[in-house]
Amino acid sequence: MPSPATAAAAVAGAPLHRRPCAPRSLVPASYSPVSPTLAESARHTAPAPLLVHRPRPSLAVARAASPDAATGARSPLSGGQMLVFVPPHPLIKHWVSVLRNEQTPCAVFRSAMAELGRLLIYEASRDWLPTITGEIQTPVAVSSVEFIDPREPVMVVPILRAGLALAENASSILPATKTYHLGLRRDEETLQPSIYLNNLPDKIPEGTRVLVVDPMLATGGTIVAAVDLLIDRGVTSKQIKIVSAVAAPPALQKLSNKFPGLHVYAGMIDSEVDEKGYIVPGLGDAGDRSFAT
Ligand code: URA
Repeated sequence: MPSPATAAAAVAGAPLHRRPCAPRSLVPASYSPVSPTLAESARHTAPAPLLVHRPRPSLAVARAASPDAATGARSPLSGGQMLVFVPPHPLIKHWVSVLRNEQTPCAVFRSAMAELGRLLIYEASRDWLPTITGEIQTPVAVSSVEFIDPREPVMVVPILRAGLALAENASSILPATKTYHLGLRRDEETLQPSIYLNNLPDKIPEGTRVLVVDPMLATGGTIVAAVDLLIDRGVTSKQIKIVSAVAAPPALQKLSNKFPGLHVYAGMIDSEVDEKGYIVPGLGDAGDRSFAT
């Protein structure tokens, strides 16, 4: 049901500029992180809805996306601090609930993870992808059109193993991607990460948009190591979006301290990490549950 104000505006023919996942999707008021500053700063930077007018293209194909879109330099949400988005969508809650259930069989778990990834990547790519505009002939008339620019593929970086399941649909919902796998293993005693596979190129083209896909942001060791590898290759934190199924305060705090400007998209935020490095209540070991090994 639209709100009375929305309905009135629609009846009056007024343009509606509400984005379904705009400031509302920032850290929910009920979330209290280890440091309250994370949620506080996110709330304080919530902007008024912004309408961006683009000039009509007069050329057959014109560059439409702002070059700043990749870096977030002109994003009204990127005041320099890290932002955490928990998109308020019932399907996201549904798939997280399926994942949480210890009775969920492995194959269902993996496909739930893939569906969750599809929704989170969709949200993360909002206002982020470079587009080209132009005019094409439909069977009926000439129409203005806008496509994703295939010349600037999004770099998708799944963190093995469980990131494979969450990133499963990335290349079907994003028209232009390149996938580079990263394998990071946590030592069960020290919880320190070590790299066993690194397919990242030595140099990453300037301005590349990078989507790091890691289902569980727990202690933060693995995700910080992954982002460090990208920063070493010339990527800035504002070019990176992290997609995760469940995030916990220790990881969010580490990321926020180290990488201002980063955007994190999470299906859910849980309150704790136990002494073994598991998120509580979490969903268990996402790799083991995805692959039954
Ligand atoms: N990795 C997982 O798979 N699960 C957790 O709870 C934490 C890290």
